[in-house]
Parts: sequence; structure tokens; C-alpha cells
Amino acid sequence: MSPLAPGSTIGVLGGGQLGRMLSIAAAQLGFDVCIFTDEPDSPAARVSAKTIVASYQDHAALADFARRVQVVTTEFENVPADAAQALIAAGARVAPNPRALAIAQDRFDEKSFFNTLGIATPSFAAIDSQAALDEALARIGAPAILKTRRLGYDGRGQIRIMHAEDARGAYQKLGAPGILEGFCAFTREISIIAARGYDGAVSAYDLCENEHASGILSRTVLPAKAGADTETRAREAARRVLEALDYVGVLTIEFFMLPDGGLVANEMAPRVHNSGHWTIEGAHTSQFAQHIRAITGWPLGPTTRVADIEMLNLIGEDANAWARLAADPSAHLHLYGKRDARAGRKMGHVTRLTYR
Ligand code: AMP
Repeated sequence: MSPLAPGSTIGVLGGGQLGRMLSIAAAQLGFDVCIFTDEPDSPAARVSAKTIVASYQDHAALADFARRVQVVTTEFENVPADAAQALIAAGARVAPNPRALAIAQDRFDEKSFFNTLGIATPSFAAIDSQAALDEALARIGAPAILKTRRLGYDGRGQIRIMHAEDARGAYQKLGAPGILEGFCAFTREISIIAARGYDGAVSAYDLCENEHASGILSRTVLPAKAGADTETRAREAARRVLEALDYVGVLTIEFFMLPDGGLVANEMAPRVHNSGHWTIEGAHTSQFAQHIRAITGWPLGPTTRVADIEMLNLIGEDANAWARLAADPSAHLHLYGKRDARAGRKMGHVTRLTYR
């Protein structure tokens, strides 16, 4: 595709902090952004040229959105896949394509997809009844994790089954179709953020090492403690996924790293990712700029990392420390403009760079 000229409008489905940071990056390259969200007064709307507030099921509003923008992308993966289809039907160019969105929305489809590409995952089984759970647990063994197939994120919708007895009544407690996964005894959690252009060019950032608290990302550091072989495997997996989906834009894969350096894929996010926020100050091209470049047909930018990195999420009340962080010369402070600091809510982040 020929590159979109500056002055074009990029549509973003979703109004959260990822949309906000995409909008800021798009503005830097001379684009306008139109946000489509069902949330009034969203973090992204307040830095974007235009916002449409409507339901993702409102096809008339989606068609209006499609007319106003030259390309549409998404900033959270739970956008109903038929909203993306409705946009395509209304003539919009959608990147990444809805197939990536549909696969990433279902943990069973996602893990099956990884396996078809030769990418290892924990053992898993689809669970649609207590009997299916009992049978799968007998095969996979405890400890294991029961997760909802759809609409789970940041550790929500998960039940840990440490012993076979914990499975009693667990399907009813989950309350939705699920997936049982064998517990992976990993040494660390790793993510790779990669991008692909319409021309098939692929580019990846250095591996990120991630720490979670209560299922939510709390800290990312680079360089990750992973050998060159592990890094090569992660890059190869990302390339396979991007190519298999004919993907355009930034995509993230989260892995568990095993004691021998092997990688087991946990999930993918068809979008920019929290573990890539460090790229704003820490790489020659941020993940947000890279995504905008990819979906507008611009050349991908260099992903070179400029320093060692620590990125800390500000969750809930952590953001109340803004005045102290603002006075800390080592802290690059980002606040997402969310009105109330509910527990578990991502309010901002801080990146620190150490030059070696
Ligand atoms: P998820 O929502 O799948 O990203 O899971 C949230 C967190 O739970 C992960 O970041 C891991 O720390 C942990 N976790 C999820 N699945 C597994 C697994 N199969 N084995 C071990 N830990 C897991």
C-alpha cells in the first residue's frame, strides 16, 4: 500500500491508555486520531482530535467512524470481532486484520494456533463441563490453572487447582467455557514485541523480562536474563505468528521461560503492550510510533535499545506518589489521566534508563 500522508486520520477502537499513547505518537508524525469507544471521557479521547462514543454493537456509528478515517486499528483485544467485520463491510481498512483479533480473544484457539506453528504451550484442554474438567485434570495433572476461554485479562477469570480436590465445583465457579492449562514451572516471564509492515518487513525489540503481582504486570526490565538462543527462538516465534496471520502492526507474545532456556507461549496480544512502554524513551522508535508506521504503510523504524531499562507500573494508589516521582530526575513519568485510582487499575508508569 502507498503510505498514508500526514494529515490523514487514524481510527482507534478503544479509549484506554494504549490508545492515548498511540494518539500521542500519531500526532508526532502529523496524523490525526479519531477514537471510537463506549466510555465517555476516556484517557485516549482527551488527547485525540475526535472521539465517537458509542457501543461496539452500533453498526451505524461504526459506519460513520469508517467514513472519517483512512485506517482503523485496535488498542484492546476484547473489541467484538464483528465490530471489526462491520468496519470492513463499511469500507474501512483494518490493521491488524480481524483474524488476529478473533484468535487472541479465545485462549483455546490461541494455544491451538501456536501449536500449529510449532510454538510450544503448556498442555491444555477445552473445558465445557465439570466432567470435562475432571477428565482433563486426570490427563494434565495438578497443579493446573482453569481460565475462562474468553474475556480474561490481567489474571481475571482464573482458578488455580493445586490439588485434585480443588477442582470440585470449579467449573461452576468459573461460570463460563474454560481452558485447563498445566502449571508451568517457569524461571521467568518474557515477552517479545514485534512489528510487521504491509510489505512483509518484520522487526522486533529486545526481549522484555516481566514481573507480575496479582496477575497484573508490575515491572519490566531489560536486558532480560535470557541467552541468545532464547532470544532467537522468541524472534522466530514472533515472525511465524506475524506471517501466518498476514499481520500488519505491532504484536506481543508472552512466554514462560523454562530452566533450560526453552520457551512456552502463554498468550499473544494483537496490539502494543504494557511490557513495551519502555520503548518510548528506551528505543530509537517507540512501540506506539512503530505501530502507527506499520498501519499507515510507512517504513518500520529502528528498534535499537539505548540503555538498560526498568519500567514500573503505577497501579491504583501508586499514582498518588506523582509529586515525588516528578521530583525524581531519574524517572520518566507517564500518567494516563484516569479520574479515579481504583485498586488494580493501571494509572501510569515510570521508566528509568541506565546508560552503560
Ligand atoms: P494470563 O492471564 O494467562 O496472562 O495469566 C496471568 C499470570 O498467571 C501469568 O503472567 C503467570 O504469572 C500466571 N500463569 C498463567 N498461566 C500459567 C501457567 N499455565 N503456568 C504457570 N503460571 C501461569
